[in-house]
Amino acid sequence: MFIIGLTGGIGSGKSTIAEHFSALGVPCIDADQTARDVVQPGEPALTAITQHFGPEVIQPDGTLDRRQVREKIFADPAAREWLNNLLHPLIRQRMVQQCQQAQGPYCILMVPLLFENHLQSLVHRTLVIDIDEATQIRRTMLRDNTTEEQVKAIIAAQCPRQQRLALADDVIQNGDEVTATQRQQAVYALHQTYLQLAAQHQSHG
Ligand code: ATP
Repeated sequence: MFIIGLTGGIGSGKSTIAEHFSALGVPCIDADQTARDVVQPGEPALTAITQHFGPEVIQPDGTLDRRQVREKIFADPAAREWLNNLLHPLIRQRMVQQCQQAQGPYCILMVPLLFENHLQSLVHRTLVIDIDEATQIRRTMLRDNTTEEQVKAIIAAQCPRQQRLALADDVIQNGDEVTATQRQQAVYALHQTYLQLAAQHQSHG
């Protein structure tokens, strides 16, 4: 399976662009969803977390109380490290598995923190959704009902725009200057490129 790593800063439009690829029949795997999947009831990771943090991290319906966990690791670096060491390999493994099981010549793996967490080795090519900071802030504030300060703090903790662009194989612009038609054309052109690259990848074994 040929894997495209789709990334970009908060509110850049990753989900929006992934939907365009989905509409073309390309399987899209969302790392955030995988991260939730590995702690579903019945998963070994949930049992390990319950044993480590206590039954208070489980909600009455049996699902993980993410807020409780966040509070527990907030001021406890050792607990945070323990949790990351447990979950990160599991999430990586599950993402790879989901990509291998996907149907089609190539798939999109949507990973918001692809560069920040040095996960490029999981993918064959990277696609960055790029947006100017002012639009990014405005859209995120609107979507999440947060303040400018909160959005700016998240942006500051992520990979800087220029660095992300320097690491990208491909870029889709998603600012207000790009029309819906132009965006769809950009997705379609990349889709053609990825089909060709996937065919080459397959023929080289
Ligand atoms: P995150 O990683 O923060 O979840 P994301 O990169 O997946 O975000 P989206 O949720 O796709 O970003 O987009 C952020 C917001 O901007 C959404 O409310 C979306 O509807 C809106 N949006 C995305 N692209 C455009 C566009 N081209 N024009 C106007 N609004 C857009």
